[in-house]
Amino acid sequence: RAYNFNAGPSALPLEVLEKAQQELVNFQESGMSIMEMSHRSATFEKVHNEAIFRLRKLFAIPNDYEILFLQGGASLQFTMIPMNFLKNGKTASYIMTGVWSEKAYKEAKLFGEPVQIASTKENQYRNIPTFDEIDVDTDDAYVHVTSNNTIYGTQWTEFPNTGEVPLIADMSSDIMSKPVDISKFDMIYAGAQKNLGPSGVTVVIARKDFLAKANSEIPTILKYSTHAESNSLYNTPPTFGIYMLGEVLKWIEEKGGLTAIAQQNEEKAKLIYDVIDNSNGFYTGHASKESRSLMNITFRVADEELEQQFLSEAKEAGFIGLNGHRSVGGCRASAYNSVPLETCKALSDFMIAFKTKHQ
Ligand code: PLP
Repeated sequence: RAYNFNAGPSALPLEVLEKAQQELVNFQESGMSIMEMSHRSATFEKVHNEAIFRLRKLFAIPNDYEILFLQGGASLQFTMIPMNFLKNGKTASYIMTGVWSEKAYKEAKLFGEPVQIASTKENQYRNIPTFDEIDVDTDDAYVHVTSNNTIYGTQWTEFPNTGEVPLIADMSSDIMSKPVDISKFDMIYAGAQKNLGPSGVTVVIARKDFLAKANSEIPTILKYSTHAESNSLYNTPPTFGIYMLGEVLKWIEEKGGLTAIAQQNEEKAKLIYDVIDNSNGFYTGHASKESRSLMNITFRVADEELEQQFLSEAKEAGFIGLNGHRSVGGCRASAYNSVPLETCKALSDFMIAFKTKHQ
């Protein structure tokens, strides 16, 4: 297997891929693939409902929250959220921690007058704002945060208390990488393709009474209520993606659940951050230490030329996806749930050897 550090879509557990391979042509003796089956069949419905059940159990999602499987990626949520909730001149607050927050804010401007209440842009998005920089307007329809900033490699560890104002989080790049107190949020959304499965499924977790406040004068398919009322089977869902998501959730369960996954994610990230921190400036992390992400580790190599050499030697050695995002350059190792500890160990060994050779 490749040492896959892709930022998304990213590595999937080998065990899950092998199981899917076994079941691909003849799913549970049905004589057909899960992809060839009606989404209204009892067999698919069981797969679908089990995925929802596992998500609720593993992520400790209370019963007063809906779990929806949508399409259109996290990017469609940037649009659906303001379309559903910015009605009657309501405002919303956006906390700006990177390019994905900017994209979410830009969509909200099409529907109302969102406000940026805190931004770390001036610091090249190296850090997460402190709570005293966040001043929530109590009239807001919601506050929006990006829990993990895939491009800059920063992550919230604690979330601000927004009082009566609903808190919405884009958790695309750290959902289910650790236990989270769901009750702090009115809505959580994430594209599945980093921690939960293949691309094509978007998970939305939302408090039922928050969804009840949504605008009803919008197209049917863009209303959360449409999907909530039909158990996410309003139209043909991404059946294969939902099946894979269910299998990834089983794998998380077998690994010991989110506490065990979180512990392993910490160990994995530490292997790489330790090399950066002990390199006497040969490697420098992009993110401020207190805001570092355990999912996306962003760093630079001593100079431009060496950095190119690092990326090309890494590629030759079998490491995939280490180039930083095209908007910021540098290097980025994405160590999501499915990236094995050995893969991170291999990268940390490679970084040490590269430094010894070139410093
Ligand atoms: N939000 C974050 C934090 C992301 O990292 C990404 C994709 O990388 C997106 C949103 C966009 O997700 P999608 O491609 O599913 O629309």
